[in-house]
Amino acid sequence: MRVSVLGTAQDGGVPHLGCECARCERARTDPDAVRYPASIVVEGAMRILVAATMDVRHQVRDVDAVVLTHAHVGHLPGLLQFGREVADADRLPVYCTAGLARLVRENDPFALLCEHDCIDLRVVEDGDTIPVGRRRDPRTGDAGAGNAATGGDDADVLRVRRVAHRDELGTGTLAVSVVGDRTLSYVPDVDAWSPNLVSWVADADAALVDGTFWSDDELPRQAEVPHPRIEASLDRLPGDDSVWFTHLNHTNPVLDPESEERATVERAGFGVAVRGQTFDC
Ligand SMILES: [Zn+2]
Ligand SMILES: [Zn+2]
Repeated sequence: MRVSVLGTAQDGGVPHLGCECARCERARTDPDAVRYPASIVVEGAMRILVAATMDVRHQVRDVDAVVLTHAHVGHLPGLLQFGREVADADRLPVYCTAGLARLVRENDPFALLCEHDCIDLRVVEDGDTIPVGRRRDPRTGDAGAGNAATGGDDADVLRVRRVAHRDELGTGTLAVSVVGDRTLSYVPDVDAWSPNLVSWVADADAALVDGTFWSDDELPRQAEVPHPRIEASLDRLPGDDSVWFTHLNHTNPVLDPESEERATVERAGFGVAVRGQTFDC
């Protein structure tokens, strides 16, 4: 399988509505400075999008399925683009928690996606797997050899995991593991690093993790939006060049490749994810 990074910003992207900071002002005139909200696409025999951001139309042409991680604004509203007004999908499989499935099914305008058979909601809970299948060789069309260690083509899956994250609607948050010959943990949005979560990141061959804020003083109301600060994460997570920060708020100084904070991240053995980055799993 191949995992491609489609976006690395917090929910609102860069530029951020209402913000006059230099980074956001630059992104309003320089397309190269725009950052889309965090999402990935996992390509095996199927192409599975993880998170439906408001910028989804810039991020993918089409996909075979979607995993919705949670109900926050950077991760759900892009689902509407699969409705009749735009992609007019035909029973696109959409994987999410039972609570989020209920929210989509019972609330317009999302409910129309179900009524029009554009999407097919499939409930997944902690530990469940979603088959991805082997990626075809672009030249020969062959699927790669099965993975003897884990049992062949069926072994290529996404495994979902419940994580603790602000849950105003009671619909929960999922992170995912991409499990093939190698594993990648994708955990872009969490309140804090629990010991379990730290081991989950450390045990994976690679990880894309919550790097929303660098420090505690980026927003006036930051106490209301708990996220692990990168400054502290550098001491909790393994600095072995396998962990990249994503879901970066527009205020985060690591967005600037020349910043002292970026240099600190790299010196500690971590990376800052960028759109277009790929991981083979
Ligand atoms: Zn988010
Ligand atoms: Zn800004």
